[in-house]
Amino acid sequence: MNTLSPLALPRPPHARLPFPYRPEAQALAGCRERLGRGFDWSAVVARARPWVQAVREHPAPFWAMESLLKEYPISSAEGLALMRLAEALLRVPDVETAIALTADQLGRADFDAADGSQGLLARLSATAIAMSKSFLPEAGTSEPGLMQRLGARTVVAATLRAIQLLGRQFVLGRTIDEAMDEADGQRRAQPRLRFSYDMLGEGARTEHDAERYLAAYAGAIRAIAASASGRSALQDGPTGADGISIKLSALFSRYEELQRERVEAELLPRVWQLVALAAEANLNLTIDAEEVDRLELSLDVFEALARRIAAQYPRWAGFGLAVQAYQTRALGVVDEVARIARTLNLRFMVRLVKGAYWDGEVKRAQELGLVGYPVYTRKAHTDVSYLACAKALLEARDVLYPQFATHNAGTIGAIDQLARGLGALPDTHFEMQRLHGMGDGVYREVLKDGIGALRVYAPVGEHRDLLAYLVRRLLENGANSSFVHQLADPRVLPEELLASPLALAHAGEQAEGLTLPAQLYGVARRNSVGVDISCLAQRAPLEAAVALAQVPAVPLADAAAVDAAMARLQTGFEGWNARPLAERAAVLERAADALEARLPEFCGLLVTEARKTLGDCVAEVREAVDFCRYYAQQARTRLAEQELPGPTGERNTLRLHGRGVFVCISPWNFPLAIFAGQVVAALVAGNSVAAKPAEQTPGVALRMVELLHQAGVPADALVLLHGPGETVGAALVADARTAGVCFTGSTAVARHINRALAAKDGPIVPLIAETGGLNAMLVDSTALPEQVVDAVVQSAFRSAGQRCSALRLLCVHESIADGLLEMLAGAMRELRVGDPARLDTDVGPLIDAEAHAGIAAQVQRLRGEARLIAETPAPQALPDTQTPVAFELQHIGQLSSEIFGPVLHVVRWGGVPEDVVRQVNALGYGLTFGLQTRIDSRAERLAQQARIGNVYVNRNTIGAVVGVQPFGGEGLSGTGPKAGGPHYLYRFCAEQTLTVNTAAAGGNAALLAGGH
Ligand SMILES: Cc1cc2nc3c(=O)[nH]c(=O)nc-3n(C[C@H](O)[C@H](O)[C@H](O)COP(=O)(O)OP(=O)(O)OC[C@H]3O[C@@H](n4cnc5c(N)ncnc54)[C@H](O)[C@@H]3O)c2cc1C
Repeated sequence: MNTLSPLALPRPPHARLPFPYRPEAQALAGCRERLGRGFDWSAVVARARPWVQAVREHPAPFWAMESLLKEYPISSAEGLALMRLAEALLRVPDVETAIALTADQLGRADFDAADGSQGLLARLSATAIAMSKSFLPEAGTSEPGLMQRLGARTVVAATLRAIQLLGRQFVLGRTIDEAMDEADGQRRAQPRLRFSYDMLGEGARTEHDAERYLAAYAGAIRAIAASASGRSALQDGPTGADGISIKLSALFSRYEELQRERVEAELLPRVWQLVALAAEANLNLTIDAEEVDRLELSLDVFEALARRIAAQYPRWAGFGLAVQAYQTRALGVVDEVARIARTLNLRFMVRLVKGAYWDGEVKRAQELGLVGYPVYTRKAHTDVSYLACAKALLEARDVLYPQFATHNAGTIGAIDQLARGLGALPDTHFEMQRLHGMGDGVYREVLKDGIGALRVYAPVGEHRDLLAYLVRRLLENGANSSFVHQLADPRVLPEELLASPLALAHAGEQAEGLTLPAQLYGVARRNSVGVDISCLAQRAPLEAAVALAQVPAVPLADAAAVDAAMARLQTGFEGWNARPLAERAAVLERAADALEARLPEFCGLLVTEARKTLGDCVAEVREAVDFCRYYAQQARTRLAEQELPGPTGERNTLRLHGRGVFVCISPWNFPLAIFAGQVVAALVAGNSVAAKPAEQTPGVALRMVELLHQAGVPADALVLLHGPGETVGAALVADARTAGVCFTGSTAVARHINRALAAKDGPIVPLIAETGGLNAMLVDSTALPEQVVDAVVQSAFRSAGQRCSALRLLCVHESIADGLLEMLAGAMRELRVGDPARLDTDVGPLIDAEAHAGIAAQVQRLRGEARLIAETPAPQALPDTQTPVAFELQHIGQLSSEIFGPVLHVVRWGGVPEDVVRQVNALGYGLTFGLQTRIDSRAERLAQQARIGNVYVNRNTIGAVVGVQPFGGEGLSGTGPKAGGPHYLYRFCAEQTLTVNTAAAGGNAALLAGGH
């Protein structure tokens, strides 16, 4: 190893690109400027039109697939069924489940309409699928008869075969040797074809996965190096020979911005091994482009490797990076890569793609409530960005070798035009690229026209590994906006197909129908603004606030203080309740704005006082903001006076008002969100509020109460009373002036409160209780293990398992349990336990020593009673910390009580899933439930069977969003109504019906005046 050039990421991290969420129009203007005026699109059309016509007249063999996707677009039930089957069927190990999945997907689709004129595969698949349906059990019924089962097995086998055929369209071989043979075969027809091999698979979740991928990549590089292509690389260089594409996420399970130290220590040396192998063989090694939140990190990794290359292999010109044009920062990336090359006196290869994860990026931005999208939202904008980047690449061809990856004839024509204008020669100065199984027809024509060299991106993998890739390709080919899709549709005229993106993108506005994350809930309610912690500019204020955070001291209340507060609040109630509804709602909205503006400060408080990690803190502040805005909006619409229908001569009005003094008792695990949610719901309904925060977290509560007062809640309508539940809480509940109690906490305390209320004389008042859960997740054999492991780790261990929604019981189908639990164990070993103020901490300490002692004792008991599956290692004993741990139980009945920490129980199940749900129901709790299955009818059926408040399918079970996933359970888990839901506010209200006999004074004037 060269000690003169350590593999190191820049320290401290610095932003090298523009802000990812700047306005789209601004980013696009930069592209236009770079592209310059006078780009003649009509010349592009003239060039590309004959290609399009020729492909339509003489379709490539792949046409069959394109026709199939046109016949059954992904937006149709049939297309969706095909895609979902393709995604899951090959991995299902047990026949019964495979039958259920096939029946479920095919049952809802109508394949009979296929027209006989299509290609062979399309016809075959359509006919097979249509016939299959008659053999399959009805979707939704669980037990088919014997004859049906025999028929169904054949159908499943046939469907499996069809999907394997589908997969083969996009995958060059199951092993690198098979793929290289296939490549050589193709080269016999097209001698100048080059390949870039890609070893398929999901991103690594464990060290074991990463090592497996590393070995596969290394094996592939050695195999290429040993081949004829590799030998020619040694002589002629990496441009003319086959190469490899690698995904950094496959080489390290924690390839994340917040894990920079580990990326440096663990990922860099691993990638370097591959880089060195490729450099020795003089091959092209390209780092694929992945998610947006990894972009800056990927550039840091790239530069770190490049520095070492400059020292060790200064003449190697085969190191490369893929750049996604759909990112609004794409042009900046090209410039940055060129800068690195110049600084280090190196040459790089740069693959320009449009980008494969557009839908996922849009969803992530919406979920995180980001200030904008990091990707363009119109296809034409991405196309313009692509052209601007292409120009920038060609202009930098002294240090970069552009590789233009596209299947779009218009884009290819435009590249040709740009290259001619700049005097860049195909092959010598750039190459084109396509994916195996796509764009065959277009490139057949393009190559005839002398547009130089072509490289095929060639995925290699076993059936199981190709599924996710296959689905991405199906999505890409099936999307209406996709060039490939439109090319296969004769109704799309050539001029439409080749329309100028420059003309289409004239204003640079964001796409209609795709609102900014802030407007997700329409005009009535603004979404809370979130923070992208992976973005340096966004997380810097949070880090500063954590460093400065000071938790205020809060005086303890005594019996006299409680009494005085209740007296004051009772007086205050009259005035506050008399305020117009709109005024009370406006106070909440002001509070929301103020809280949003002070997000960093509240995050600092939460990290310090409640020991929460930064990501959790941001989510919690957002939730509190959402509660304020949501209840304000709900109050306006739901609590307004209503005129009711009735007989003439009478006016009937229903109106709602506050009940009096509401006591709100909240827990420490969401000291801001739950505290604020309870308080503002009670307030907006017209009540005054005695707010008792958890003893562990009064500081956050104090700051929130101050904020509410500043926003306009009168001092005598809201009083904070800090103290133990046994004294202050009990006194508040027992007080005769209490008109209602809103409580979140344990079932035991809720019972206590219920009894105390029942024991009182005077009015019977409402109790809204949200309590704990023994939350389960059921996983069947159609689920994707990687997705399950992600969901389990988040649900069971985030916030150190201290959420009432947290996963406690994982029920895995026996046919996949061994593999899944091994992956889970590996993923748990990769978690980092430590100080919550550190960005790289996944799991912080428990709330206090007392909680820790209780949980430690329960874990000790489990060590004796159950089988240990895995435990996250901790570098040293950390105060009050329980490291994530998972135990396997024999059966569900062994689970008796909630352990409020990062402790997961696992059971295996066989037989029918309904039995599992029955047993989960029998536990008596009903808060959250997770289902991991691709059988839609099963998910629907089990969700209906579950006596559980929040059911999540194919995702984690935590982080309910206000107004989107109203939260709260049934049974032992709470009384309802759900927090953040449309029925919540009513429970805080008293109702009055006002009936006025408008005919009392002499007669019905209105009726008579109507002249009936
Ligand atoms: C050789 C090769 C290597 C590749 N490597 C990578 C890689 O490393 N990383 C990666 O992410 N992808 C990669 N891809 C996949 C690539 O991103 C897609 O194949 C490509 O986007 C399809 O573009 P097109 O020009 O062929 O088709 P077109 O139909 O012209 O473009 C489709 C693309 O436009 C974009 N788009 C669609 N709708 C919108 C919208 N509403 N707003 C904005 N943009 C939109 C999307 O990027 C979509 O994929 C690679 C592709 C090839 C050919």
